[in-house]
Amino acid sequence: MADAVDARPVVTRFAPAPTGFLHLGHIVNAIYVWGVARASSGRVLLRIEDHDRQRSRPAFEDAILEDLAWLGFAADEPLVRQSERGSVYEAALGELRRQGLVYACDCSRAAIAAPRYPGTCRDKGLPESHGLGLRVRLDPTVERFDDWRHGPQEQRPFEQCGDLLLRDREGNWTYQFAAAVDDWQQGVTLVIRGDDLLESTGRQIQLARLLGRREPPAFLHHPLIMKTATQKLSKSDGDTGVRELRQRGWSAEQVIEQAAVLAADEAAR
Ligand SMILES: [Zn+2]
Repeated sequence: MADAVDARPVVTRFAPAPTGFLHLGHIVNAIYVWGVARASSGRVLLRIEDHDRQRSRPAFEDAILEDLAWLGFAADEPLVRQSERGSVYEAALGELRRQGLVYACDCSRAAIAAPRYPGTCRDKGLPESHGLGLRVRLDPTVERFDDWRHGPQEQRPFEQCGDLLLRDREGNWTYQFAAAVDDWQQGVTLVIRGDDLLESTGRQIQLARLLGRREPPAFLHHPLIMKTATQKLSKSDGDTGVRELRQRGWSAEQVIEQAAVLAADEAAR
């Protein structure tokens, strides 16, 4: 891990989406999150990322909280749910709107299946209305940051993804927007997450700056544990689900140890 150049006190977060049960991949993330926070006298926030109302389920949230408590991962502040923060996102959207950066988009999901949005609706001047998505106009900037594990990074969000979607046609706030707003509003100084999100970091940094955040959070991206060399673990892999392991009689210590062993293997590759 690179030396921390960041002098701010560590405030980090564990932010599961209640769209499935916890598996060992989440526990690896929790080990990094609580490990770094505890090693630096920092704090851990717990955020339920239920911004996708169609896919989130209260039953999954209950199970996630119960598993975390069983494992002994306790947050330092009461949990926050994205589904209850609509007014916070509205206010952030208003700030972008004041800067003239927000526009409505009526492209279908199929039409924007490509990784980069081509800007079809950028200058259409569509009125914002129900059933339309909302996007933010990005400048073609170069975002540089020093990842705590990977070192100096350079990304071009506009070239990567075009203008970001803030709210989709179903009215759901997007992951990128909600996370950038929350990390700012909650004073998160260090985002710890898996390597699969490394390439979207520049977007979050650019978004944070547009929202008015003076200093973006620092980032630490850790290796994901893999099912095979090329296949990520997923919620459907019952053999690594915390619930299944508990049912098989594993103790909390065994679950954490197994996740730590897998994480160490990946980190050593
Ligand atoms: Zn569009």
